[in-house]
Amino acid sequence: MSTPPALSIPQGSRYVLARARVPAELVLSPPPGAQQDSEGAHLLDVLVDQGRIGGLFPAGQAPDIAQVDVQGRHLWPALIDMHTHLDCGHAIPRVRPDGTIHGGFSLTAEDWPRWTDHDLALRMEFGLACAHAHGVSAIRSHVDSETLAHSQHHWRALDAMRHKWAGRVDLQGVTICAMEAWLGDDARALADLAAQYGGILGGVTDTLDRGENGTYDRLSHALDRLFALAKERGLDVDLHVDQTDDLKAFTIPEIARARLRSGFQGRVVLGHCVNLSLQRPETIQATLTLAREADLAFVSMPTPMMYLMDRKPNRTPRWRGVTAANEIRAAGLPLAIGGDNCRDAWFPYGDHDMLDTLKQAIRVFQADEPLTGSLAMAARTPADLIGRPDLGRIDVGLPAHVILFSARSLNVILSRDQSDRIVLHHGRQVTDPLPLHNELEVALGLTPTMP
Ligand SMILES: [Zn+2]
Repeated sequence: MSTPPALSIPQGSRYVLARARVPAELVLSPPPGAQQDSEGAHLLDVLVDQGRIGGLFPAGQAPDIAQVDVQGRHLWPALIDMHTHLDCGHAIPRVRPDGTIHGGFSLTAEDWPRWTDHDLALRMEFGLACAHAHGVSAIRSHVDSETLAHSQHHWRALDAMRHKWAGRVDLQGVTICAMEAWLGDDARALADLAAQYGGILGGVTDTLDRGENGTYDRLSHALDRLFALAKERGLDVDLHVDQTDDLKAFTIPEIARARLRSGFQGRVVLGHCVNLSLQRPETIQATLTLAREADLAFVSMPTPMMYLMDRKPNRTPRWRGVTAANEIRAAGLPLAIGGDNCRDAWFPYGDHDMLDTLKQAIRVFQADEPLTGSLAMAARTPADLIGRPDLGRIDVGLPAHVILFSARSLNVILSRDQSDRIVLHHGRQVTDPLPLHNELEVALGLTPTMP
């Protein structure tokens, strides 16, 4: 076997990445005359100028300045992870998940007393460093807010990381709490906290059961309160929705109706919605029609859902555990993907690598044949949903946050792990290595199992 020579990225502030393959769905305005390959990628010369994309040219037509010939390698924008839980993450092995949703809640609650400022900073920073090295430029993270005191503590920890990592991995928080919290005395203070730290509002809609009369009156009331608080503060909303195989615990229609009666103008994102895929086809279509009317968007977290859903002792899962992804996309509704939990009480694995999440999503949704449009689930779509139209795409004037793969085709990107990818941030190569788990364990005071 021979190893191809490594690419050398110029150190200057103005250079050309010549002959790069950029998938059509990730480039806003390809230059006229650019060749396209059989997988729909344009062959482009990309001018990097002062940390931004200074120009896009058909291959061979860039200005005659410092060039590196990338020989047809794929070049993508840095990816976006719009659904994470950085405050829960990297608690393995002190937390040992049992593969159930119930265990996720109870084991996280048992771990809370260990969440000191120092502990949160170490674990959150580990997650951000992984994401940065893998080529993720922005993250939205749900902030555990079970009580107001918890919320204050966790938002402060997130805010410290938000400032420390600004410009490398941009971080936005979103409140996560049982929907009952929006009916309580602390609701206004919870909303103010999110606003104070540049965050948005959310909650878990399937914590509120139907009442004795079989209706969702209490949930509707909580949603009305949430939308009113978000509207007053000009904040978006991002909810955890229907993380269950129970067909009756189905809250998307309630959310859509609450949104429609609220007059709320912000973005509303629904995460998970896994039991949508188990509903009858007529119910799925009627729900998506209502969702379109209410201008809802969706985010799916395929990797932890495959782990958690349909898990029963001594039985192979019969259901893939993900939402009706292809129906959502066919209905013209935005669908992003997110990494979600990472090495915590909910999901014991993961590395904040959105390329890995994208590969899992493409396979579990069967979102190939054609593959066209699927890459945007980890790039343009989440960037738009978090209000960052400057990220997740290649265009003149945007920051040169890009990933350069060794692969010359989409098929190879989906086939080999691409651990040799080169990440550029503002046109400069990211050389920070992936952080080491054993060093984190020592810093957290966890005794390694072996010397
Ligand atoms: Zn989540």
